[in-house]
Amino acid sequence: MEKSEVLPHALCGAKAKRTGKFCRQPAMKNGKCRMHGGKSTGARTQKGLDAIRAANFKHGIYSKENHKARIRVKNIYSFCKNYIRSLN
Ligand SMILES: [Zn+2]
Repeated sequence: MEKSEVLPHALCGAKAKRTGKFCRQPAMKNGKCRMHGGKSTGARTQKGLDAIRAANFKHGIYSKENHKARIRVKNIYSFCKNYIRSLN
């Protein structure tokens, strides 16, 4: 008796565009076969997340630190403007 007869494996079930039939390959843990595994669910580890951040970082204009600095300058400017107005 083969293993597949004892434990029937789940099938992929992806639908083929051309034939309209369902894929009969054995499914992986995610429910699809090796060819229909689906899109990547993204990086999970901290190392992978850091690598993505490093790859997308260009100049830091929109970084958190730069944003805070811009707000600080804006507040100082606003304070000075109000102070000058109050003198008149
Ligand atoms: Zn498949």
